[in-house]
Amino acid sequence: MADNPTFTLVCEDGEEFFYNPYESTLENKDGQNLYEKNPIGIEKINDMYVYSPKDYNHGYKVNPIHPLFNPGKKVKNPGRLKIQLGLKCNYKCEYCSQASFVPAASVTDQEDVDEFIEKLDSRLDLSSCSTVELWGGEPLLYWKKIKKLVPVLKEKCGEDLEIVMVTNGSLLTQEKVDYFKEHKFHIAMSHDGPGYHLRGPDPLDNPKKLALVNQLISADKNQELGFAFSIVWTKENDNFNQTVKWFRDRFPDVNINCEGVVEAYDLKTALNEKTGKFNEDYINEFREKVYNGIVEDTQPLLQVVGIVEKINEWFGTLLYKKNGSILPQKCGMDQDDDIAVDLKGNVMTCQNVGLENKHHAGHLDAIEDVRIKSSRHWSWRNECTHCPVVQLCKGSCMFLTGKEFAQTCWNEYAYNTGILFGAIKLLTGKKVVKIAGDIRRPAYE
Ligand code: SF4
Ligand code: SF4
Repeated sequence: MADNPTFTLVCEDGEEFFYNPYESTLENKDGQNLYEKNPIGIEKINDMYVYSPKDYNHGYKVNPIHPLFNPGKKVKNPGRLKIQLGLKCNYKCEYCSQASFVPAASVTDQEDVDEFIEKLDSRLDLSSCSTVELWGGEPLLYWKKIKKLVPVLKEKCGEDLEIVMVTNGSLLTQEKVDYFKEHKFHIAMSHDGPGYHLRGPDPLDNPKKLALVNQLISADKNQELGFAFSIVWTKENDNFNQTVKWFRDRFPDVNINCEGVVEAYDLKTALNEKTGKFNEDYINEFREKVYNGIVEDTQPLLQVVGIVEKINEWFGTLLYKKNGSILPQKCGMDQDDDIAVDLKGNVMTCQNVGLENKHHAGHLDAIEDVRIKSSRHWSWRNECTHCPVVQLCKGSCMFLTGKEFAQTCWNEYAYNTGILFGAIKLLTGKKVVKIAGDIRRPAYE
């Protein structure tokens, strides 16, 4: 952060707080640290930071992607390996983050899987890899490949490996559910509750699929695997009481998680008022709704894992004075030990893109030459370095530019200021109504 601004948070009753997101300090006008004023209240919501901060503070350094100082290198021994099986999908969600990349997607066959497995040892050292993510498109369209890969990866990475998969759930079968249990998968099923119509036909309307989802939920309770629904917040599901109730009525015990607010990965989404385009009025309305969802009535958003984790993590930044210099990008793909590959061994910016020039970073056969060329770390964006919610948003997507970045940034700003204000209300009992200071926003068009 260039000049490290402090922001003034003005409360409903006129009191002012002073927040510096680079130094993670939050003080009142007497210089009292507001976090330290309320350690017990915080400890309650924040136990994971209090007891194991290191695990949740995402390491101690970042190497911002920058054309001169760190041109986006990757190491041979990843901590997280994301395997893109292909971008095919049997759904057409209106806000899909991958849709515009499908034409340049890597297409692979079973022979590629064999070669990928055969060359794995010479290309990568997976001994310290703790997470493998299997990505589509819709990953269950690549079932044969998954079954070939998983036993090998488990052997290379060790038994405590976490295998993560995000699926739309429409292709679940008994065989797959059994397999997930056998290998202790962590499954996130994308579902937007009452906003599902933006995605297509709801698999939960099919009694057979519903029964399989219920099996996954029971298996999660028995610790045989991990399962959660994962919501993308759009205008169609922004009545948070209703959305959380939608899930609770059907699945009283299920983990409800969220991926976050809808982002605009292509122009079509950036201009679509039903999905990516939050207009100026709606930005304020959405922020207020998020805030209310955290502090009002039944506090529905405190039942959503992703929101509670964000609040916890932000309290953690205050507790440990998390410096902006160690804040990685939202998705972690700026890190040199987070690698996304396809089954031909190509390294890409991340799992969501195709092999367009700018996203094709190199090949596992020459990992020392891999360079992420598409992206800019948040610390090199003027907006993010002058943003009061950077510790929550972490710069959104690192490769977006132009209108897509601007719209995504506005959506994220609305979402994260709602969460910030909610967290401050939980911390101090006060409602922030305005932020003043050197805030630099992208032009809103
Ligand atoms: S809201 Fe926008 S300016 Fe703030 S950190 Fe996110 S992307 Fe950057
Ligand atoms: S770079 Fe990160 S935020 Fe952007 S699409 Fe890829 S995983 Fe998502």
